[in-house]
Amino acid sequence: MAYEVTCIPGDGTGPELMAAAKVALAATGVDIAWTDVEAGADVMDKYGTPLPAQVLDSVRRTKLALKGPITTPIGSGFRSVNVALRKELDLYANLRPAVTIPGVASRYEGVDLVVVRENTEDLYAGVEHMVGRDAAESIKIITRSASERICRFAFEYARRHRRHKVTAVHKANIMKFTDGLFLEAARGVAAEYPDIVFEDRIVDNMCMQLVQKPELYDVLVCPNLYGDIISDLCAGLVGGLGVAPGANIGVEAAVFEPVHGSAPKYAGQNKVNPTALILSGVLMLRHLGEEQAADALFAAVTQVIGSKDRVTYDLGGRSGTSDMARAIAERVQKIRASRQ
Ligand code: NAD
Repeated sequence: MAYEVTCIPGDGTGPELMAAAKVALAATGVDIAWTDVEAGADVMDKYGTPLPAQVLDSVRRTKLALKGPITTPIGSGFRSVNVALRKELDLYANLRPAVTIPGVASRYEGVDLVVVRENTEDLYAGVEHMVGRDAAESIKIITRSASERICRFAFEYARRHRRHKVTAVHKANIMKFTDGLFLEAARGVAAEYPDIVFEDRIVDNMCMQLVQKPELYDVLVCPNLYGDIISDLCAGLVGGLGVAPGANIGVEAAVFEPVHGSAPKYAGQNKVNPTALILSGVLMLRHLGEEQAADALFAAVTQVIGSKDRVTYDLGGRSGTSDMARAIAERVQKIRASRQ
């Protein structure tokens, strides 16, 4: 039976990236029935909102979505579609693996990290206001339940993917109540997982350690703000945005999307790198338990990038988005044929 998946191509370069990702995913042989829905800057005139109700309805029904990037218009009065999707669907865990891909230029080798970021609270809860004209306050909200939930997610992820260590990132030495609570929750959850090593790092030290010896770390679990910053740092360790996949996961639904934005200056030029969205598709296949297909697609991506032949400009090549995706699809088919 086919997996039903909501497809949100997004705007800017999103639609061409999504077309490319579908070609690569189709080659795996996993039967996916796509429901295509529109969201983003391009549909504001048509629906009066960048996030029409049918998008949420579809994700609630299929429980799964593959999403392209969506522009957040500055000063339009609309909140970010990306943040709204995470809030409405309670996608509390943001998952961002950062793995060295041979052939992608980077200062590091052998990086294999996973950042698990709490997605619903902290300074991103949006509780801020002016105090008079010359001061502003933002309230940092950390709850025991959200902290335990994200830490449990990180440990479960580590166990399921045979990872050996979880590091909690915090600043509990200064923010004794908020980050202190996060750390206390992390320690409590860690005690339930004696098979996995637990340690904690203060966020500033964590940043230094990551750029000096990233190989010492495995799964990192972070409150929202530190997770946002650390996960971009980790993407930088493995070659940047063009190759960084992500997932937002909740109890009821999961949305898989690249870390990068809509790169509007390249829209319609068949130019940008489809790797981050295709690797988000790999995460989706793993979420579905389609490990063989996920392995084949990941291997095909690394082989195409490694051969440096049919790759996009940012990887030093001259291929367009669609041609790189076709090259990956052809590799997937070869890998599948060699297994038979
Ligand atoms: P961006 O990620 O779109 O672009 C940053 C740089 O990376 C640009 O030079 C761009 O050309 C390059 N780049 C991005 N993706 C690439 C790819 N696949 N291949 C090759 N090069 C790539 O970031 P931005 O310019 O800050 O944001 C543009 C818009 O996207 C903004 O409105 C922002 O709010 C939105 N955004 C959306 C998401 C999302 O949908 N989840 C995430 C981040 C930013």
